[in-house]
Amino acid sequence: MRYSQYFIPTVKETPSDAEVVSHKLMLRAGMIRKLAAGIYNYLPLGLRSIRKVEQIVREEMNRAGAIELLMPSVQPAELWQESKRWEQYGKELLRFKDRKDAEFCLGPTHEEVITDLVRREVKSYRQMPLNLYQVQSKFRDEIRPRFGLMRGREFIMKDAYSFDVSSEAADISYDKMYQAYRRIFQRCGLRFRAVEADTGSIGGSSSHEFMVLADSGEDAIVSCTACEYAANVEKAEARLFPPEHAEPRELEKVETPQKRSVEEVTAFLGIPASSLVKTLLCVADGEPVAALVRGDHDLNEIKLKHLLGCEELEMASEEVVERVTGAPVGFAGPVGLKIKIVADLVVQGMKNFVTGGNARDLHFKNVNIGRDFTPALIADIRNVVHGDPCPRCEAGHLEMWRGIEVGHVFKLGTKYSESLRATFLDADGKEQVIFMGCYGIGISRTVAACIEQNHDADGIIFPIPIAPFHCIISAVSTKDAEVMAACDELYRALTAVGVEVLFDDRDERPGSKFKDADLIGIPLRIVVGSKNLAEGKVELKYRKSGEVSLLTLAEAVETVKGLVVAALNQ
Ligand code: ATP
Ligand code: MG
Repeated sequence: MRYSQYFIPTVKETPSDAEVVSHKLMLRAGMIRKLAAGIYNYLPLGLRSIRKVEQIVREEMNRAGAIELLMPSVQPAELWQESKRWEQYGKELLRFKDRKDAEFCLGPTHEEVITDLVRREVKSYRQMPLNLYQVQSKFRDEIRPRFGLMRGREFIMKDAYSFDVSSEAADISYDKMYQAYRRIFQRCGLRFRAVEADTGSIGGSSSHEFMVLADSGEDAIVSCTACEYAANVEKAEARLFPPEHAEPRELEKVETPQKRSVEEVTAFLGIPASSLVKTLLCVADGEPVAALVRGDHDLNEIKLKHLLGCEELEMASEEVVERVTGAPVGFAGPVGLKIKIVADLVVQGMKNFVTGGNARDLHFKNVNIGRDFTPALIADIRNVVHGDPCPRCEAGHLEMWRGIEVGHVFKLGTKYSESLRATFLDADGKEQVIFMGCYGIGISRTVAACIEQNHDADGIIFPIPIAPFHCIISAVSTKDAEVMAACDELYRALTAVGVEVLFDDRDERPGSKFKDADLIGIPLRIVVGSKNLAEGKVELKYRKSGEVSLLTLAEAVETVKGLVVAALNQ
């Protein structure tokens, strides 16, 4: 591709409405342009990367035995009413009516449509296992569309759905997808982790998220230093700490004027945060609940929600706190509290700790479980922290990472097949419900996540497998016929061996060509200038390391080919 004939509208200035690096760089590199909030045009360069990811995804899905189809993005309301999600999904579901007043939505996901198709077409155990997938635009009317392709309203997803005769057979389908996802992100050249994830509101029994590691990631994840355990912090299990051995001391009231936060109280009393227990008041389906966690730990609302089995859990308002504790916010404590108390496992092992005193400017010292209050429930309700012992092995501890969720695999069980009555006849002619799994990859988000992980001050640093082009040839002087002839020769030789080349033939200063090449992140650059060419040489520069080598034309072709082939076969 000749740069001069292509469409790469790069921009020098950082766009003011972009917050994260990938959004800024994709705009600057001319990969995307905004049409409306969370809705983007994919320009040629951006589309090339998207197509690369799609291609890898298709190859691995096909290899795993999944079959491609394409479902409409417009979906009738009736199906969503049948699955009960028409009411449950809320405002993210974009709904509209046709001219006959029939209700429709734009598909945020396709469980209903695929289950409807399968219930009509699959009647016998002989037709399974079946795994159907598509690459399709999804629409989710996100409250805060932001970060460019990272959280769009319209975005491209690969979604697959598996259908099996039993839970055991569904486990095998799930495992195939899990392995395919590992290969997909490995082949994309990304550093990632597959982590255990909360199953959330979709329901279902188990799930893994695939997280691209990047400091800017919205998700906190942990992995063990010694074994394979890795989980989203939302889900990561905390192991029981050994209990403290100390004699209970006498309960004591202390004045703590204006000291409300953990930092203020512990500084004032001269104790570490780990000697204090904070009392967090929540409201679970309308009922106030007190959650106790150690001062330096955070409450995990998802764990608490599962424990209480409630539909809705929120932090209590000031009014509720004052009504329940009789004190302003900042002085809540378990002693004398009349509502349900849930204590974290770690709190169970603590002795002589500090808590709020349920009165203005008052705390208690030497509080002890059993003597001073009795929790209704003691369970793991905190977020794990860096250094926690691994819940699965004896040898390792947990390390924290930030991640961007690019893929999600999910055992659905019979949730949709039951509500939509997707059944089959087993070998004995008995009617059974189909077991399902669903598997999503954010194709457009994967490109953005790749940039979050791979960039520097000058721009994007694409890994070869999903770079829009593998190699860029920069002609230093377009006026020099020999230079242009050498570029043409390189272009032809590289293209012939399967290398995708962008030939920067523009009549621009070399400096600005190099800036653009760095910005758009092409992994390999061949610079052809008259001085080196007089010696029969060209410069090969690696975008990632900045390393430069002087090579003959033939050597340059061989080296680039070797690097590309190796990267595409990893
Ligand atoms: P998130 O928690 O980030 O909102 P999700 O859990 O709702 O995502 P899934 O329903 O699991 O997303 O969708 C499958 C995949 O689609 C996700 O792993 C993610 O890569 C991608 N995805 C989801 N929402 C968006 C979005 N708004 N923009 C771009 N990609 C998205
Ligand atoms: Mg998800």
